[in-house]
Amino acid sequence: MSEKRYVEEFYMSIVVQKFGGSSVATPEKLNQVAEKIINEVKQKNQVVVVVSAQGKTTDKLIAEEKEVTSKIYPREHDVLVSVGEQITISKLSSLLNDKGYRATSLCGWQIPIITNSEHMNSRIRYIKNETIIDYLRGGHIVIVAGFQGIDEQGNITTLGRGGSDTTAVALAASLKAERCDIYTDVDGVFTADPRIVPDAKKLDIVSYDEMLELASMGAKVLHNRCVEIGNKYNIPIFVKSTFMQNSMGTLVTSANKQIEQFIINGVAKDDYISRITVIGVTNKVGQTYKLFKVMADNLINIDVITQNFGETVKQNVAFTVKMTDLEKTLKVLEEHKKELDIEQVLHTENLCKVSIIGIGINNKPGVAASMFEALYKENINMHMVSTSEIKISVLVDMDDSAKAMRAIHKKFFK
Ligand code: ADP
Ligand code: ASP
Ligand code: MG
Repeated sequence: MSEKRYVEEFYMSIVVQKFGGSSVATPEKLNQVAEKIINEVKQKNQVVVVVSAQGKTTDKLIAEEKEVTSKIYPREHDVLVSVGEQITISKLSSLLNDKGYRATSLCGWQIPIITNSEHMNSRIRYIKNETIIDYLRGGHIVIVAGFQGIDEQGNITTLGRGGSDTTAVALAASLKAERCDIYTDVDGVFTADPRIVPDAKKLDIVSYDEMLELASMGAKVLHNRCVEIGNKYNIPIFVKSTFMQNSMGTLVTSANKQIEQFIINGVAKDDYISRITVIGVTNKVGQTYKLFKVMADNLINIDVITQNFGETVKQNVAFTVKMTDLEKTLKVLEEHKKELDIEQVLHTENLCKVSIIGIGINNKPGVAASMFEALYKENINMHMVSTSEIKISVLVDMDDSAKAMRAIHKKFFK
């Protein structure tokens, strides 16, 4: 019997629930989470739960790693940071058993969730459903450790910070679940981070495309890769508050039925960015290519790029990298200075990319001007600008980022 038929014939709907780090931070909160799960079981659904590490556990594990080594050994890093989720699944499962429910915890490797071998940022290749389905069939609630998997060689891997959302939606897709509920510490997706912009408005419904842009531009309420998976497999994702009663949350789906009220859908920010300015690159065919080829060969991710064109013999190229890649980037540029024909390399640290997101933004006259005016009125300097069909991003000093978000948000969402 095919797996799909197996699922359809024997079970009622499967629902995947995911609870983030702050939702499972203390025994009291775990208890509330257990009640949320029991509620879902009472709706006669088969429930698969994905959890994150408790509170700041992952950050603490990373700090402990730094106590013993200044380097990062990606394989060992993943063995360490995957521990946090394992603690949560055990506690939650025990708690549910205490309450009289059959619950079983599973680590990524026990399912297994098979990923590629890119440690610290692994991608899920496939998930074997059998073990989970067997437990569901036996009337168990299945509690899965988010964020972690195993590669074909048997190494433990992790999906990148915030990756438990991706575990949840990937499981929902693999198990053909009815929906995936992402429970967190805010009441849904807002037009900006409500902790920074108190006037931010909750979106009742948002399309996968818009959500993907918001998440990719730094709105960490959802891991961007979970939105991609939701879109690909058409899984409705509900973002809700764990602790608010009757939280309606936000539905992320393909059919955005919301009547367009605003020019933009949201404002997001991404901190800890640095800008590198490469001065005096010879103005001849292939020089810029060679520069970025060196970056690509060294696995350095580049974001915004600007190049000043002109009649001059020399030109400047500027680009941004994450601060975590800054040291490596400067080292690589120094090593290739001669071959790339570079005169000087400058860099600016602690920048933030603030973006506005909206479908067809580049077809709406005056949007960029309004955004820049908001910054000008707050006397905020812009270091770089980039635009696309769906967003406009500006680089500002990190110290100005919250002020910039509030000013821009006010301009567009009066
Ligand atoms: P979890 O631990 O549940 O995964 P996260 O901390 O990863 O939670 O994500 C939730 C946080 O995302 C919120 O507390 C909020 O500060 C932040 N956030 C950023 N942008 C947005 C947005 N547009 N809407 C809602 N929350 C946002
Ligand atoms: N615990 C991991 C992190 O802190 C994964 C997650 O919470 O989604 O990044
Ligand atoms: Mg998260």
